[in-house]
Amino acid sequence: MANLLDKYQKMRDFGSTPEPSGKSLDRKSKELIFVVQKHQASQLHYDFRLELEGVLKSWAVPKGPSYDPGTKRLAMMTEDHPYDYAGFEGVIPEGNYGAGNVIIWDNGTWEYTGPDQDPVTSVRKGNLKFVLHGRKLFGEWALVRIARGSPKGNEWLLIKHRDRYANDTLDVTVEAPLSIISGRSVESVSGKKQWKSDRMATAGRKAPTIASALAAKRAGKRDKGQASTRKRASGKKAAAKKRTGSGKVAGSGKKGRTPSKKR
Ligand code: MN
Repeated sequence: MANLLDKYQKMRDFGSTPEPSGKSLDRKSKELIFVVQKHQASQLHYDFRLELEGVLKSWAVPKGPSYDPGTKRLAMMTEDHPYDYAGFEGVIPEGNYGAGNVIIWDNGTWEYTGPDQDPVTSVRKGNLKFVLHGRKLFGEWALVRIARGSPKGNEWLLIKHRDRYANDTLDVTVEAPLSIISGRSVESVSGKKQWKSDRMATAGRKAPTIASALAAKRAGKRDKGQASTRKRASGKKAAAKKRTGSGKVAGSGKKGRTPSKKR
């Protein structure tokens, strides 16, 4: 049986790059995970990865995701990456494939919604619909292969579906540019500290952040154009208070869940 990671592994020298080799599978989540890595390689792009078949199916999205259903973003399908890659943030040294800085821009879990019986079939057919439960990306999305015009057949479009999160005014890549793990920008990320994969997919549905801001903005049309970091932070606090009744702030990991034990 062909190893899905053959291509990934042949393209890299693991004595020279800190990227995971994919030799060991160390799953931490019961649900399928996704990650979006902002990658300052020769050209800035966002690597959009969905867990499937034990690996991360991957697309490079030059402009990043858009919440505007009318803005379809080109997504070039790239080689499958190992599951552990979802925890990678750091610097790929000069001389290596994809040299440059990488931050974990978003992560969480995803659910397949169609249009076939299973996601593997949908990827093969070039039409995959899914729901994201991230910290920046929420709601219904689709990846659709462009039928013609691409000699390699690797050109897809990443499209936001119309739902309560859709938004044609707020650019999520501008609004929320930093790493969700370290808070660093892609320019300032350090090569010295490598992040561990057990930090991923813990927040998911538990940490309302930019998605709540988007939904609130769309629903209430309040505070137009002022979804600042401060406002998001206070919205997060309020949401946490409402949910737990404890006033503790969500998104601080497992500690935030302890109040529920009292019930
Ligand atoms: Mn990349």
